[in-house]
Amino acid sequence: MDSIYDLIVIGAGPGGYVAAIRAAQLGMKVLVVEKESALGGTCLRVGCIPSKALLESSELYYKTKREYGMHGISVEASVDLAKLMARKDSIVTQLTKGIAGLFQKNHVEHVAGEAKFTGPKTIAVGDESYEGKAVIIAAGARPATLPGIEFDGRNIVDSTGALSFDEIPESLIVIGAGAIGLEMASVWSRLGSTVTVLEYMPQIVPGLDAETAELAKRILGRQKIKIETGVRVTGANADGDSVAVTAEGKKEGDPPRQWTAGKLLVSVGRRPNTETLNLSAAGIETDARGFIPVNETLETKSPGVYAVGDVIGGLMLAHKASEEAVAVVERLAGRQASVNYAAIPAIVYTDPEIASVGKTEEQLMKDGVDYKKASFPYAANGRAKALNAKEGFVKILADPDSDKILGAHIVGVHAGDLIAELALAMHVGATVKTVAQTTHAHPTLSEIVKEAALAVHGEAIHI
Ligand code: FAD
Repeated sequence: MDSIYDLIVIGAGPGGYVAAIRAAQLGMKVLVVEKESALGGTCLRVGCIPSKALLESSELYYKTKREYGMHGISVEASVDLAKLMARKDSIVTQLTKGIAGLFQKNHVEHVAGEAKFTGPKTIAVGDESYEGKAVIIAAGARPATLPGIEFDGRNIVDSTGALSFDEIPESLIVIGAGAIGLEMASVWSRLGSTVTVLEYMPQIVPGLDAETAELAKRILGRQKIKIETGVRVTGANADGDSVAVTAEGKKEGDPPRQWTAGKLLVSVGRRPNTETLNLSAAGIETDARGFIPVNETLETKSPGVYAVGDVIGGLMLAHKASEEAVAVVERLAGRQASVNYAAIPAIVYTDPEIASVGKTEEQLMKDGVDYKKASFPYAANGRAKALNAKEGFVKILADPDSDKILGAHIVGVHAGDLIAELALAMHVGATVKTVAQTTHAHPTLSEIVKEAALAVHGEAIHI
């Protein structure tokens, strides 16, 4: 045995690196094992950050072509894809190196290599062995595919491939209209690809409030992203420079449907990275889908071994992983901590953004929960008009008795920032009235949130 640590963390994504830094801040001796050469996990390397970098570049290009004219500005726009990608790569490098810097600053030790359990709290990395008084598994997830469709890294790619095309595909099919699929569809459509998104479920962003999803679909459809829902894809074949995707006919008895494009992105969810951890040595079994079961303190069946983030399923979001990580570590340090799962915001960074927190109308109806609702449109807000951001709404669902917010859903520019106020209100149990009575600066988009809250009580001013 080489060393004993207070905490060993497997994986340096938003779950793992946040756990490690917080534990070190709380005085623990911490070791992080990460198999990739760069720190930061999926989020920093091939997820949240590179996708947002590409969304920003592609949006600028799109707006230069489509919107500058109305401001009386004329500019010739063209894209240098290599430079655009280099900017993205440089942001990723800065941030992943930033994590290395934070590890150094906080005296977090880091070993590069693949971690495997050799006992309940012993981990092997190559020939070395490490023991932890506690272990956090934050091994994350990787792209899943559909039966019969294999990634070839060229024509049929996963999200990582679609973040790094070396030329703008003339046409792109995206299977899956979740957050990742829609964001990548937006990037390449804005850069000039003809994009078709195929979704199995009857709405985009499955699980999102249905009215919100419908509005978002309409707006995105006007941007020439063709979205078809209720499509059951049965296979895909790459042939030379094109891919053919087949799906069942619209109705029983209809012939199969087919689409062809230069590239296919399969974006149908993510699978947990649990196969190579040798979990059985720690007495841990995964569930049928490979996720690690945990109790309410995020502890696995093996005492002292915890799991957080994508590897346990639930909302597969970076901030959910980080909050879980902090909660585990704070409790290890003897503090009280928990994650408020009822108020975790989720955002799709399309233009406009789609943001939600809490329950959807469908969930409330299914659970037989009484609710009142109201929405307020972007079109009635002065700042939105000045920003040419007239499409969208803020929708609030509230308890008719307590006036507490049960859920909030936003489609519109900066929805991802606006939702924070409603997430905070839910977290502290503030009433809709409190949000409505809070002074919001004028002219800001945040006034749409205030007006939506006023509208819940039939008191909106500007409509
Ligand atoms: P990960 O970030 O996946 O990190 C796990 C780490 O563990 C990895 O670095 C992996 O190499 C390492 N590892 C795995 N097995 C081992 C082993 N045996 N030994 C050592 N190391 C190991 N979420 C958001 O909240 N907002 C977004 O905008 C967003 N955009 C996304 C865009 C894309 C294209 C993708 C793919 C994902 C996006 N996500 C987003 C999801 C987000 O990236 C994940 O939810 C988040 O990274 C999960 O964090 P994690 O720490 O659980 O796992």
